[in-house]
Amino acid sequence: MAEVVVTGAAGFIGRHLVARLTDAGWAVVGLDRRAAMPRAARAVVADLASADLTARDDAAAAALRNAAAVFHLAGCPGVRTAEPDIAQRRWRDNVLAGRRVLAATPPDVPVVVASSSSVYGGAARDAGGALRPSHEADPLRPLGGYARSKAQLEQACAARAAAGGAVAVARLFTVAGAGQRPDMAIARWLDAGRAGRPVEAYGSLRRRRDFTDVRAVADGLVRMLEAEAMTTLNLGSGRARSLAEVLDAVAAAVGRPLEVVVEPAGPEEVGATLADTRRAARLLGWEGDTDLDALVAWQAQAAEVAATAPAS
Ligand code: NAD
Repeated sequence: MAEVVVTGAAGFIGRHLVARLTDAGWAVVGLDRRAAMPRAARAVVADLASADLTARDDAAAAALRNAAAVFHLAGCPGVRTAEPDIAQRRWRDNVLAGRRVLAATPPDVPVVVASSSSVYGGAARDAGGALRPSHEADPLRPLGGYARSKAQLEQACAARAAAGGAVAVARLFTVAGAGQRPDMAIARWLDAGRAGRPVEAYGSLRRRRDFTDVRAVADGLVRMLEAEAMTTLNLGSGRARSLAEVLDAVAAAVGRPLEVVVEPAGPEEVGATLADTRRAARLLGWEGDTDLDALVAWQAQAAEVAATAPAS
């Protein structure tokens, strides 16, 4: 059986996607520059961005050439990074690596690409002040370098589609659950809350985010392939949770009240995100509705296990 390639397989979402694919009976090849690949995947550790894929990384190129399908998750995530080389890393890992994966995969092989809700520039409000969910057909308003790099990645996907190639774009909203990246809010808050340190939130506790369970996201990605939904789809819960609600869930999970410090938000921090989930529901029969308390409790439990596990 031909294998499915997952780029970014050693990452937060990639590990869950590999598990979901292997459960469905797919054989998986993981491509990642990190060596800590999930056990279920046959690993190809590659630096797609700095290597000439065909000349310098024959194993990665062969995996993409021979794939039954590709999920492209590798990238430089996070809107709020201030390191001096961040613009270069976003260009290399979000734009260039994406272009190379698309170019190295035969046109008839479906590529499902992880984009981000950040391309919308936040959910708008109607005249009455109610949040209007972001729809796939909305014009893009990427704010900040991360969002712009994902919009450029989407342009590369559009070029593949225009040339008759098979490609789908998944706009992921904020993803949470076991193994969440340590720079993300819930992971940071759980860590600080458990240690009794103050937790830092940005802007205002009234800001809202659409949080989705990583298992639902992995399921949605696999359904995009299996339903041959070669289009752009939001994968979000369709519910905008205030940061105050999330902090309550974190406090419940760590079993103690939190000391919250509100820091100023950067210009790329939008007031709210909210997915219009109708297209994904119609095309995939998918729904990302998420029980926030259960999700945060699961993430907390997994973090606790990881913190107490003996080093291997
Ligand atoms: P992650 O950082 O945990 O995983 C990304 C993986 O990609 C890492 O293991 C990294 O080593 C690998 N990688 C990056 N550049 C590479 C390269 N050039 N060659 C080989 N490997 C490379 O991130 P994540 O949270 O799992 O996110 C996965 C994808 O989903 C990213 O593209 C991210 O932008 C997107 N996304 C994530 C979220 C979220 O809430 N986590 C939301 C929207 C979009």
